[in-house]
Amino acid sequence: MSGGKSLAETPITALKGVGDKFAQVLGKLHIATVQDLLFHLPLRYQDRTRVVPIAALAPGMDAVIEGEVRAADVVFGRRRSLLVKLQDNTGTLSLRFFHFTAAQKNRFARGVRIRCYGEARRGAAGLELYHPETEIVGAETSDRPDTLTPVYPLTEGVSQTRLRSLVQQALAMLEHGVTELLPTDALPSTLRYPLAGALQYLHAPPAGADLEQMAEGQHPAQQRLALEELLAHHLSLLELRRSHSAVAAPPLPGDASLERDFLARLPFSLTGAQRRVCAEIAADLEQSRPMMRLLQGDVGAGKTLVAALAALRAMSAGAQVAVMAPTEILAEQHRRNFCGWLEPLGIGVAQITGSLKASERRRQLAAVESGEAQLVVGTHALFQADVSFRNLALVIIDEQHRFGVRQRLELREKGAADGVSGRLQPHQLIMTATPIPRTLAMSAFADLDCSVIDELPPGRQPINTVAISGERRDRVMERVQGAVAEARQAYWVCTLIEDSETLQAQAAETTASELAEALDGVRIALVHGRLKPDEKERVMNAFKAGEVDLLVATTVIEVGVDVPNASLMIIENPERLGLAQLHQLRGRVGRGSIASHCVLLYGTPLSRNGRARLQALRQHSDGFAIAEEDLRLRGPGEILGTRQTGEIEHRVADLQRDAHLLPQVQRIAASAALTEDIRRQLIARWLQNRPRYAEA
Ligand code: ADP
Ligand code: MG
Repeated sequence: MSGGKSLAETPITALKGVGDKFAQVLGKLHIATVQDLLFHLPLRYQDRTRVVPIAALAPGMDAVIEGEVRAADVVFGRRRSLLVKLQDNTGTLSLRFFHFTAAQKNRFARGVRIRCYGEARRGAAGLELYHPETEIVGAETSDRPDTLTPVYPLTEGVSQTRLRSLVQQALAMLEHGVTELLPTDALPSTLRYPLAGALQYLHAPPAGADLEQMAEGQHPAQQRLALEELLAHHLSLLELRRSHSAVAAPPLPGDASLERDFLARLPFSLTGAQRRVCAEIAADLEQSRPMMRLLQGDVGAGKTLVAALAALRAMSAGAQVAVMAPTEILAEQHRRNFCGWLEPLGIGVAQITGSLKASERRRQLAAVESGEAQLVVGTHALFQADVSFRNLALVIIDEQHRFGVRQRLELREKGAADGVSGRLQPHQLIMTATPIPRTLAMSAFADLDCSVIDELPPGRQPINTVAISGERRDRVMERVQGAVAEARQAYWVCTLIEDSETLQAQAAETTASELAEALDGVRIALVHGRLKPDEKERVMNAFKAGEVDLLVATTVIEVGVDVPNASLMIIENPERLGLAQLHQLRGRVGRGSIASHCVLLYGTPLSRNGRARLQALRQHSDGFAIAEEDLRLRGPGEILGTRQTGEIEHRVADLQRDAHLLPQVQRIAASAALTEDIRRQLIARWLQNRPRYAEA
């Protein structure tokens, strides 16, 4: 490095105009050094390099316009405003100001030439610019810039203008020292873009740069940085994994006799895969560092049983176990399963969900605190501060794709605070029925060990899946009637594009009453997210008990619900859902020994991609094959669940868009050319705003 310190070591106060006070404000943007500022990348760009003819303006476009004032009038619409008519040689346009002074109004004298910048919107008077920046064109008009203008993420106390001028200063220092951390020959040839050049380009793209390409993140400068950013995230997860193994956990050797009693009471024996996975878990639990294991297994593979066996191990070693489920319905189902299995063995089970009545909640909390309940089932309400465990040493998280990395860390911290002793961390078992393709798993869950239940319990009937057009709804209703006549039960799942529980509930209600009208003698019930928990429970119980023939539901039944006599599932508008979710839904049937059917009642017209996805679902019954297909058709967002991806905030990279870079990322991460020091610097450079990833 020529001449002194690198920019990673140069404090932001080295820039002109940045004192301690302003440095604190910048700290809120996680900018402490000049390098941090350079990695604070624009969200988007404005093109002020060229004047746009009025005729070429379209709504939503940000543009520089120059024209002559034709009129300036105060108008009284819903709100008083100043309306200025501007004309160039291609057309006219209105500027609208809601706040203005008399002096401002007088500036807009007829015939004056104005240059303005703003976003075009459709207004009462045709295209309008609301509160544009304006400037009178004359002798002192500022030059138009020759680069695109960056728009940065801001915080209170920092303006765009100020940030831009700081970045200009930082760019001038660029040559002296942003360290190229990636070994050039590790980069694919298309991405050998020098780091300094990439930063320069992204902060100040030249006039004429392809804004569309940049908005899509496809410019090589962006891809080069995206690769580095993904690598930094990957390394931080590897670091996280390494730090787990440095933390102490209570070894739980367990006692096989409890397990033997338990297995002896089961009406079936474990599958080979369940046995193998149980052994992997048991070996982890004996260690004095926390288990961090992801258990993947297709819908119906029998994960709950594996969880119960893990819990038994831990409890026989005297520890307390928490089981966390993503929904109340599922928590309730787990409570019931675990009570049924464990109470005969004399083990107390408590339940903590958000909907418990105050008195009941107190009772359950007391049981947890005293240790009278050795197993606690709940929803994320288990995180709450008033829950204190006696000696929590194993945390089991079901359907992980519904929870994010942050919650995973939170529960771990909670365990450490309440656990066996303040300094010990509980073991964690994370279960998911969403099979995660290997590349993605290696990146998104690089901090976990993986076990896979790759075998279904014997005697499962394959689910026969058919796709039928919504125009033939009548025939589908006949099928429901037929199934009910044979004493089978069925689900009818309503989907909506909007993620609104209220709208979903309404749609399901409408469908339920339509079906009730059309289907004679079929006992119909309705379950959706807006029902009170005890109401939900009542409906689910009635369905389980066979008192309801057809359950009309929203996708709340997606995860985990287990009713073996239900052998027919209708999914309305399946094209609205992701493949993984559909596969989960479909897994609600085919759980007993009766042949099961899933009818995909699609809306027309069906897009080509929609058709391909339904086809994939009909062809494959294996969740992994479906997940691979999903990755190909929809990208990783679907597979990891939106919450998961939503929470990993990248600056340049987009896990979905840039999934093709992941194999490179893994290759580079494994390369010997990345020294300890380089790893540390990469993580610091990209993740300084997420210390919990790096430190946890
Ligand atoms: P998932 O992996 O989807 O959570 P569950 O744990 O709910 O699956 O199991 C699905 C069903 O299979 C349950 O009814 C469970 O009792 C049953 N089951 C689990 N393991 C076996 C087995 N080894 N043999 C037969 N049935 C099993
Ligand atoms: Mg399950």
